[in-house]
Amino acid sequence: MGNNSMLKKNGFAFTCLKENCPNSCCGPFKDRSPDHISVFSMDHDGIPLLHREAEAITKERGKRHIVRLNDGGWHIRLRHDRSCPFWVKGLCSINNIKPALCIAYPFYLDAFSGLNVHRTCPGLNQGHTDVETTKSMLKALKELYIELADRALAKISNSVKEIDSKCCNRQKKVV
Ligand code: SF4
Ligand code: SF4
Repeated sequence: MGNNSMLKKNGFAFTCLKENCPNSCCGPFKDRSPDHISVFSMDHDGIPLLHREAEAITKERGKRHIVRLNDGGWHIRLRHDRSCPFWVKGLCSINNIKPALCIAYPFYLDAFSGLNVHRTCPGLNQGHTDVETTKSMLKALKELYIELADRALAKISNSVKEIDSKCCNRQKKVV
């Protein structure tokens, strides 16, 4: 599995510390990096969801915590303190329908350096996660990125069509 010290024969050097984590990834979430601007003016106050996850959470917990986004997607609305509303006593209360982002954590993809981990996760270099589970984490990450990219493509196509039709209507009025 390469020579990175985090990747070993028996898996990835990581164990989630769950309710004993001193710096949980369930909150409070940080604000967007000042270097980033949302193309679709989306707020940075939620946890992104796949379509099927938004449906599953709505079915199990109602619509209260789910928000529809400008790009046609969904996210979990954070609490006022920017923590996840499903984080209860240090544990995930929707473990059976946990979002892909949470399954994949601490992995994330970077266009320049490929697969990364969040260095702030205290579970890194603690025990190990077996190869099959590590692969499931990466599959969740892949599914999330593909759906986010598909959504952005659809949104861009629709926006261009809208701009086109507005231009045509304006031209017709001028003629
Ligand atoms: S930050 Fe890491 S160790 Fe802590 S709860 Fe999240 S995944 Fe687990
Ligand atoms: S859905 Fe669960 S794992 Fe994800 S941030 Fe919320 S409490 Fe944490």
